[in-house]
Amino acid sequence: MKAAAFAYHRPDTVSEAVQMLGEFGDDAKILAGGQSLVPMLAMRLTYFENLIDISRIDELKNIERHDDELVVAAGTPHSLVGMDDEVAESVPLLTLSTPYIGHFQIRTRGTLGGAIAHADPAAEYAAVALALDATMEATSSRGRRHIPAAEFFTGLWETSLAPDEVLTAVRFPVWGGRSGFAVEEFARRHGDFAIAGATVAVQLDGDDRVARCGIGLLGLGSTPLRGTAAEVAVVGQAAHAATAEEVGRLAMSGLSDIPADLQGSADYRSRVGAAMVTRAWAAAIRQAQTSEAEAIHA
Ligand SMILES: Cc1cc2nc3c(=O)[nH]c(=O)nc-3n(C[C@H](O)[C@H](O)[C@H](O)COP(=O)(O)OP(=O)(O)OC[C@H]3O[C@@H](n4cnc5c(N)ncnc54)[C@H](O)[C@@H]3O)c2cc1C
Repeated sequence: MKAAAFAYHRPDTVSEAVQMLGEFGDDAKILAGGQSLVPMLAMRLTYFENLIDISRIDELKNIERHDDELVVAAGTPHSLVGMDDEVAESVPLLTLSTPYIGHFQIRTRGTLGGAIAHADPAAEYAAVALALDATMEATSSRGRRHIPAAEFFTGLWETSLAPDEVLTAVRFPVWGGRSGFAVEEFARRHGDFAIAGATVAVQLDGDDRVARCGIGLLGLGSTPLRGTAAEVAVVGQAAHAATAEEVGRLAMSGLSDIPADLQGSADYRSRVGAAMVTRAWAAAIRQAQTSEAEAIHA
């Protein structure tokens, strides 16, 4: 099957893109890497009269560290995010999660902003943005606004972006000190969307207590989610007050719409999810404690 005919537009700047979005209204859609939108158009699951291709806009491909924030421009391809030294240093969860996204061809074309704007419940970058409390930068002809990750994912493939807004960047807080990070997910074949997975960031204080933590969950609802019950239970407690298995179980409590499909029942996904959180939590705690040991040794 082929996509229905559409008009193709290729702006050179963000301001041209937002002008076009304003002009065409609901009849237009942003095309970034095309790795999610093009298959949907080809299968005729969706249709737009105008596609606005932002892939040649240079200002949308950039990675910059500003003090305690890493700003990744929305059009930066997954492959660049995954290979960038500044990303690895500042936001290791992005580096760790990139190899799980599809295959290298998909990572070459697909963009960080596209993955987040598409808002698949199993999108790794979306779960990272949630776990770290990232901020989305949206631009329209009305100006620029910032949307906390917690308010961005509103439903299956739905976000709080207005139809005339372009996601221009994502701002990831940089966690320093005694921090540890881990990503674990399970898919039947490498490159498939995860059946369930977890992205974990944890920071310990000098007394080995959990100062803060973020647990992002993928594949466990109609949007990417946070393991809030587990986060609340561990913050302020000694690092090993709860076992990793308890943290895994807690992360699943309160999840009300775990999907059931041909890949598995809701109960199966919940058990896989708990196991992924368990593993990621244990690895992140280990890293946080090891990073201190190295710092003392140095
Ligand atoms: C076989 C296969 C396996 C995959 N596996 C995974 C996986 O495991 N994990 C994962 O996360 N993804 C996976 N993907 C999807 C891939 O990561 C896509 O690249 C990503 O979801 C969309 O990014 P894109 O740049 O290609 O966006 P597009 O496909 O061009 O756009 C996707 C949607 O986002 C909107 N959009 C894109 N950019 C912007 C922007 N800057 N502002 C506003 N709206 C925008 C578009 O209008 C469209 O609605 C897979 C894809 C395939 C084909």
